[in-house]
Amino acid sequence: MSRFEGKVAIVTGGAQGIGAAIVRRLASEGAAVAVVDLTAERAQPVVDEVVKDGGRALALGADVSRTEDAQAAVAAAVTEFGRIDILVNNAGITRDNLLFKMTDEDWDSVIAVNLRSAFIMSREAQKHFVAQKYGKIVSLSSRSALGNRGQANYSASKAGVMGLTATLAIELGPFGVNVNAVAPGYISTAMTDATARRVGLDPDEMRRLASEQTPVRRVGEPEDIAAVVAFLAADESSFVSGQTIQVNGGADR
Ligand code: NAP
Repeated sequence: MSRFEGKVAIVTGGAQGIGAAIVRRLASEGAAVAVVDLTAERAQPVVDEVVKDGGRALALGADVSRTEDAQAAVAAAVTEFGRIDILVNNAGITRDNLLFKMTDEDWDSVIAVNLRSAFIMSREAQKHFVAQKYGKIVSLSSRSALGNRGQANYSASKAGVMGLTATLAIELGPFGVNVNAVAPGYISTAMTDATARRVGLDPDEMRRLASEQTPVRRVGEPEDIAAVVAFLAADESSFVSGQTIQVNGGADR
């Protein structure tokens, strides 16, 4: 029997990159997945893929840093699929700059999309999870939470995700809800390609340099993260809660 047969998942930022890999993985193991991205049109191609492969998925447009949008996305998923069991807080952005050049907007937008969204989506989802005494929350932190030049906003948001995760695990554990996070190292996506270009490097060159600095001598792929998210969303890991799992090929920081 598939691990997620009969389960319903919401994946934010699911249109591309790590989020899309998580959607594919959960759907391939039986979950019905609500794919949330800034517009439903952006999420539709992944949904079409899942449906073509015999799965169930729904495209939803929402800016998950906005309370009304988050509420509407959770409500739409429940209306379509009847319940929700798994929330993956994956949507994230970067607005990198050294502190002296970082604007209020750079700070506020990154904290809103990367941290506030995890808070409001989790608050929405827990209403259903607590009522049914079952739920899984997995959020995306980052190795950058430990500090990364030019990423004061991003690093703070991802360290915030770790604290949020530890606290929600304490509050929701008695109600059958597991709350964990995954902290990826360098994963090959549009986000890291954009970072490469920002520092004047070709993305392939950046991947090569990152591979050299990683003990397993390669960069991560979105599927590497999806595998760990799926483990944390499955019942086999039900004694794991409040953790942030580093998935970075053995990098020390
Ligand atoms: P990505 O390729 O940029 O994908 C992020 C997705 O989130 C995009 O589809 C984006 O839509 C969507 N999104 C952005 N703001 C949103 C909002 N307010 N509401 C709904 N959706 C929104 O990024 P990724 O590399 O896959 O990263 C996924 C997550 O992993 C992020 O939380 C990131 O911080 C984290 N992470 C990534 C790495 C890495 O090396 N790639 C490392 C550590 C952590 P648009 O494209 O339309 O903006």
